[in-house]
Amino acid sequence: ILKQYVDGIPKETDMDVKLGDKIKLKAPKGSSCILVKNLYLSCDPYMRGRMRDFHGSYLPPFVPGQRIEGFGLAKVIDSDDANYKPDDIISGITGWEEYSLLRSSNEQLQLRKVQLDDDDDIPLSYHLGLLGMAGFTAYAGFNEICSPKKAESVFVSAASGAVGQLVGQLAKLHGCYVVGSAGTKQKVDLLKSKLGFDEAFNYKEEADLDAALKRYFPEGINIYFDNVGGTMLDAVLLNMKVRGRIALCGMVSLQSLSSSSSSSQGINNLYNAIPKRVRLEGFLQSDYLHVFPQFLEHVKGYYKEKKIVYVEDMCEGLEQAPGALVGLFSGKNIGKQIVQVAEE
Ligand code: NDP
Repeated sequence: ILKQYVDGIPKETDMDVKLGDKIKLKAPKGSSCILVKNLYLSCDPYMRGRMRDFHGSYLPPFVPGQRIEGFGLAKVIDSDDANYKPDDIISGITGWEEYSLLRSSNEQLQLRKVQLDDDDDIPLSYHLGLLGMAGFTAYAGFNEICSPKKAESVFVSAASGAVGQLVGQLAKLHGCYVVGSAGTKQKVDLLKSKLGFDEAFNYKEEADLDAALKRYFPEGINIYFDNVGGTMLDAVLLNMKVRGRIALCGMVSLQSLSSSSSSSQGINNLYNAIPKRVRLEGFLQSDYLHVFPQFLEHVKGYYKEKKIVYVEDMCEGLEQAPGALVGLFSGKNIGKQIVQVAEE
């Protein structure tokens, strides 16, 4: 549960793990609900936005004292909904708890049955990362917003994370030159050795981000996939090529600013977008759900053909969930952060 609303960087102590009342493992008759056993939960930076008392966003805030919710993978135990039967695996918004009662007609839950092929050797948890919301964000953002062309230069921030690692690999499949930034040496090595980026650098070791970008992009950047916002976005604005594209995916560097922080968001160089005719476009993955089937087909295919890999950071047990979630804001996670709640 969320104990209280959060100002600044969230802490483990902002959350609590509680023993709930005993429940019957049944979907009540006439409820049109499904009762699911949660298997895996996804930790996502956007969840920080739901930890404050702000109602103007695209998702309502969590309620202090009540359970947190987020994307998860779960097994149907009992169903009062003709579309679902016991043992179906579902993905969508579920509770951070062992069992959840979900109403599939609630569109906000984005529930869907996970189709498992008989010959599937894809780990089930990948349906939260590579084949789930994070992977889809990378696919939709890169293809629909960035309009990539062969041989273009691409920069990705938070590049070893759940979204960034796939953006970089998709860009390589498009024949682009790809550079990623990340916050530790281990992540930088991972980007170059396992994830196939051409170059990578640790932004925390760069006193001058503009100079760092000029080192890797002497002729400028065609595409910037922005996961962090703030000072990195500002430095990128000095290095874009004419008619470059910036996909504003997320701004994790701003997500934990306290209410008293300055509101400039670190951006001083926006003017450069005019003479360079740069297009900046924010997007939500949920706007592109019509390409979800195509995404699944393509990315599953790339994975099966060993053209891409995926890195997960898995911790076990609901008690670990608060630490895993807050770790996103200090860069503790290496790859897609997932909490395993129960054995498959
Ligand atoms: P990640 O797996 O990348 O985890 C977050 C990472 O952000 C950390 O590991 C850390 O990596 C980096 N980070 C944390 N704090 C800072 C900071 N102050 N400055 C710079 N980097 C920081 O998360 P996701 O891949 O799940 O999400 C990436 C972005 O995509 C987020 O901004 C998220 O909100 C956004 N998003 C947007 C969606 C949309 O529909 N538009 C949907 C899903 C995600 P490091 O060690 O490298 O600093």
